[in-house]
Amino acid sequence: MIKETRLLLKNITYDDQKCLEKYIERGGFRGFRKVLELSPDQVIEHVKVSGLRGRGGAGFPTGLKWSFVPKNSGKPVYVVCNADESEPGTFKDRILMERDPFLLIEGILIACYALGSKLAFIYIRGEYQYAYKVLLDAIKEANQSGYLGDNILGSGVSVNITIHRGAGAYICGEETALLNSLEGKKGYPRIKPPFPAVKGLYGCPTVINNVETLCALPVIFDMGAEEYAKLGTEKSKGTKLFSVSGIVCKPGVYEVELGVDLIGFINDVCGGIIENVTPKIVIPGGSSVPALTWSECEGVKLDYESLQNAGTMLGSGGFMVFGDNVSALDLCLNFAKFYAHESCGQCTPCREGAKWLVDILQKLKNKTAYPGDLERIQAICSGIAGHTICPFGDALVTPVISLLKKFPDDFSIDYGVTSVSP
Ligand code: SF4
Repeated sequence: MIKETRLLLKNITYDDQKCLEKYIERGGFRGFRKVLELSPDQVIEHVKVSGLRGRGGAGFPTGLKWSFVPKNSGKPVYVVCNADESEPGTFKDRILMERDPFLLIEGILIACYALGSKLAFIYIRGEYQYAYKVLLDAIKEANQSGYLGDNILGSGVSVNITIHRGAGAYICGEETALLNSLEGKKGYPRIKPPFPAVKGLYGCPTVINNVETLCALPVIFDMGAEEYAKLGTEKSKGTKLFSVSGIVCKPGVYEVELGVDLIGFINDVCGGIIENVTPKIVIPGGSSVPALTWSECEGVKLDYESLQNAGTMLGSGGFMVFGDNVSALDLCLNFAKFYAHESCGQCTPCREGAKWLVDILQKLKNKTAYPGDLERIQAICSGIAGHTICPFGDALVTPVISLLKKFPDDFSIDYGVTSVSP
């Protein structure tokens, strides 16, 4: 029987968790106080020991990422919290920000201490108006109470947090687009290298971490990095939040140890599949990861390696389950429309290819496609993947390729149009 392991979510059911006094009463800032007894390098080592990996999608080891920041560059170091949660199917950061804002503030403080940063930014999705307000109030209260600002708790550590709202562009969740947007420019992804750790915000060393990643830090330092590392699997340590939607009885946000069984997670934690619907497609990590057929889910575990071995990814944890009442073509078209709308337009393959995919998928849906259009979809996808500035291009084609391959019947063009060529 799989159960939730609530570490980051342990206090979200309390309505008064947004109050600093209650946050502290329930153990808040214990992790940060422990951090103050360590040197910044020791903090980075502890994060490495914990095995924490970025929870925004890429899964890169957090401690290693921090260690790329050059020491004594003579420039300020910035910490940026990526709160631009916009991946279709993903809504777990929102819960953390709305229900436990001081957890995020404490996580940012820990990251700033480790990296020698005095100024952090939270770049929050513009549509998250309530989360923005909650965070704004929490930052204000933390400033007034000595948990932010100059000489925090008499430690000599000074950190300020500025919160910045995005304007509704999905691409600004890509870290270099986010930095451009934060600098007041168009949200265009930058060519890497240089990587933000060396040349990020305003040309200075910058670490960008996702909300969930930062929220894990107070937990790790409170319970101990070694204890945290005992959770999960050998390479995927700790817990992970999943935002679950689709044909499960209890959709919502759940936190489980990494490495739990995928089907068991659906049955035991999400209440199982709703009555009279046959499960067909599972997308475990947001719209940009490959889809699994229901039969492929058998024996798969929810961790980075197991999902990779199954041909998909953990991604952002946007866990979507679709039944046999959903056509893979409709799903594919829906995703393609989203990506075509959100392409920033810098790269020709992404800008043009996304629209071509929508056109052909729409023709398939309207039953006006030509013979050869399925091959054309494959060719367009090949022309996009790996040929763009940022990972958006790959994200755009991934669901198309996997759904087309796994559900060919849903894309059938066998409806009488056989002799017309484009
Ligand atoms: Fe913009 Fe798409 Fe190129 Fe990314 S891949 S930079 S979103 S055009």
